[in-house]
Amino acid sequence: MQSGSCGENLRWKLDDEVLTISGTGEMENYFYKHNPPWRACMRSIQRVVIGKNVATIGTQAFQCCSKLTRVTIPDSVTLIGESAFNTCKNLRRLDIGKGVETIGEFAFSDCTSLTSIKIPDSVTEIGECTFRGCTSLTSIEIPGSVTEIGECPFVGCTSLTSIEIPSSVTKIGERAFVGCTSLTSIEIPSSVTKIGKSAFSGCTSLTSIEIPDSVTEIGERAFSDCTSLDPAKIRISPRKQQVFTGLLKKGYCEKCAGPLEKRQVGGYVCSRCGAIYLMLY
Ligand SMILES: [Zn+2]
Repeated sequence: MQSGSCGENLRWKLDDEVLTISGTGEMENYFYKHNPPWRACMRSIQRVVIGKNVATIGTQAFQCCSKLTRVTIPDSVTLIGESAFNTCKNLRRLDIGKGVETIGEFAFSDCTSLTSIKIPDSVTEIGECTFRGCTSLTSIEIPGSVTEIGECPFVGCTSLTSIEIPSSVTKIGERAFVGCTSLTSIEIPSSVTKIGKSAFSGCTSLTSIEIPDSVTEIGERAFSDCTSLDPAKIRISPRKQQVFTGLLKKGYCEKCAGPLEKRQVGGYVCSRCGAIYLMLY
C-alpha cells in the first residue's frame, strides 16, 4: 500500500488498484512537472473512491488513468478541475454529485468508453471541450440550470444521436457540436439568441433544423459541411422570410438576382427581396 498527501487536509492511499481520497477540503492541482503522487501507478488504478468531504478534484488529477472504469463524485465536490479525467479510456460509469458548480476544460475529454452523462442542476455552463472526443456517448442530460453551452464541449461525440437543449440556454458556443456525425436532429429552444461560429459544422447526419425567432445571431459556417441537411427542411421564423442556400456558388440572390448584404441572422440577405441565405459551406 502506498499513501500520502494530496491537499492541505487531504490524504490518498492506493491499495489493490483502489485509490481512496479522504479528508476535508481542496485537492492540489497538478500539471507537467508536478504530477499527482499516484502518477507511477496511474495505469493500474481501477477505482477511485472520493470521500464525502472532498471539495475539489484537482487539475489533471486522474488524467490518463486508463484502467479506471467507474467514478462517483460526491455531493461535497463543487469543482472538477481542468483535464481531471481527460483520456480515461475505460471510464464507463460516471456519477457527478449534486454540488458540482464548475466542470473544468477538457475534464472528461477523450473518455471514449463513456456512454451516458447526467449533469447536475448545480451547473450553469458547459465549458470548453468538456466532453470532446467522447465517441461512445449516446446520452447526455443537460439540466435547466445551464444557460450557456460553451466552446467545443461536444466536438467529435460521434455516437450522439440526439441532445435535448433545455429552454434555459441562451447561447450555443463556437464549434459546440462540430463533427457529431450521428446527430440527426436538434431542437433549438426559443431561449437561444446566439449560435456560435461552426456550432454544427460537420454534423453529417443532420437532416433538418429549426431556428427559432429568438436567434439574432448565427456565426459563420454554423451549419457548414452538414451534407445531409435538406435546404427545404431548414425552418427559420416566417417573418425572417425564406431561406436559401447556394450563396457561394452565385454570389447574388437566386430568387431575384438582387445583391446580397451580409447580416447577422442567416449569413446574407437579399437587399431587393429580403430572402435570407444561410451559409451551408
Ligand atoms: Zn432576392
